[in-house]
Amino acid sequence: MPNRQQINELKDTLILRKETILNNINGSRANIDQLKDQEIKDDLDYAELVSDSFTEGMIANHQLDELKQIEEAIKKIDDGSYGTCAMCSVTIPIGRLKAKPFAKFCTECRTVYENEQMK
Ligand SMILES: [Zn+2]
Repeated sequence: MPNRQQINELKDTLILRKETILNNINGSRANIDQLKDQEIKDDLDYAELVSDSFTEGMIANHQLDELKQIEEAIKKIDDGSYGTCAMCSVTIPIGRLKAKPFAKFCTECRTVYENEQMK
């Protein structure tokens, strides 16, 4: 199990990441609104506007997903179940947690999980 200090450090990382994502999402919403406010002169502009919004939307979705995982990880830290694999209950190595603090699975289960998703 990661020790108290390691957990505190990881929690700080998670909270910081959460704030960054929230700022990003708010920022890109503002960008889209700004784009929509601009006068659309012809179809080309409109196509660009739509594809920009689409890309922004994809990024926002991805970040919302990450945000959810971060919140789950913070909850787990608080209830003491953080750092164990959700599938096989093995302790997730600290190196992996440092690289991905919201990791839910150990490396082996992650591979299994990803293979399942691709089917
Ligand atoms: Zn596992």
